[in-house]
Amino acid sequence: MKPYAIGVDIGGTSIKFGLFTSQGELLEKWSMDTRTETGGMHILPDVSKAILRKLEEQKILPAQVEGIGIGVPGPVDAQSNVFFCVNLGWKEKFSLKQRMNELLPDIPKVLAANDANTAALGELWKGGGQGYKSTVMLTLGTGVGGGVVMSGAIVAGAHGGAGEIGHITVNHRETAVCSCGKRGCLEQYASARGIVRLAKEMLSASEKPSALREMETFSAKDICDLARDGEEMAHEILLRCGRFLGRAMSFVACALDPDVFIIGGGMSRAGDILMEAIRLGYRKYAFQDSKDTPVTSARLWNDAGIYGCVKMVL
Ligand SMILES: [Zn+2]
Repeated sequence: MKPYAIGVDIGGTSIKFGLFTSQGELLEKWSMDTRTETGGMHILPDVSKAILRKLEEQKILPAQVEGIGIGVPGPVDAQSNVFFCVNLGWKEKFSLKQRMNELLPDIPKVLAANDANTAALGELWKGGGQGYKSTVMLTLGTGVGGGVVMSGAIVAGAHGGAGEIGHITVNHRETAVCSCGKRGCLEQYASARGIVRLAKEMLSASEKPSALREMETFSAKDICDLARDGEEMAHEILLRCGRFLGRAMSFVACALDPDVFIIGGGMSRAGDILMEAIRLGYRKYAFQDSKDTPVTSARLWNDAGIYGCVKMVL
């Protein structure tokens, strides 16, 4: 194997790069803004220029690079075809590998995957899932993302849609519509926005005192902070959110039975109180044989993507 590898995590606002040794040691990371204008046509040329600049600076030849792994915020199939990426301005299906090969012919090995999947692979390799072979990772942020890694390999699915755990229906009685057009998706209760909506509903259906009632607006963090300070109402909201998450995870376990669940994303920084609510929720619904599957927190945070991208090519 060649001595170096590069991970590139392309997001809607910034592109993160990691230069690694082929033993998996991160030598240097850097980032740049994502230029999404004119259909995102500058993104891949920007990526290849940034890579060439860094290699020159480090006195590394392109021929010494084993490969480039790339994560993108949209569906990608197992052949590194990107279907579309709304956040990047990409609207048509194309081969990301082929495009990168035209830009960087001296580094022929290029693999691409959805960023939730690369984050799951990164966490499994060097983060919260270290020591395990398979995981399903949930990222609780603006939405609820999911990544699936089985026997060390990313599961992309036939349409790049494997891991869309945020859109598992967990509540058949919901009347509000999810961003995807369905009703009752996990994302409607367990994303940063979803938990606030859930909290408002629970507050109006209950007489219980809560500091949330005094706030004009509140965030997921406010709910978690109050629950940690011992407020009963805030804790009940987290438990309910944990039950929705646990229900979706139990469905996933019935199909995949991973070694470990990893919880990442901004909301998981709320710490133990949310993690405990998720574990309780999961145990409530899990099938007998997979009841004891560990549920851990992500550890690499924003770096999970570049680690996972590099792991794909090593
Ligand atoms: Zn949905």
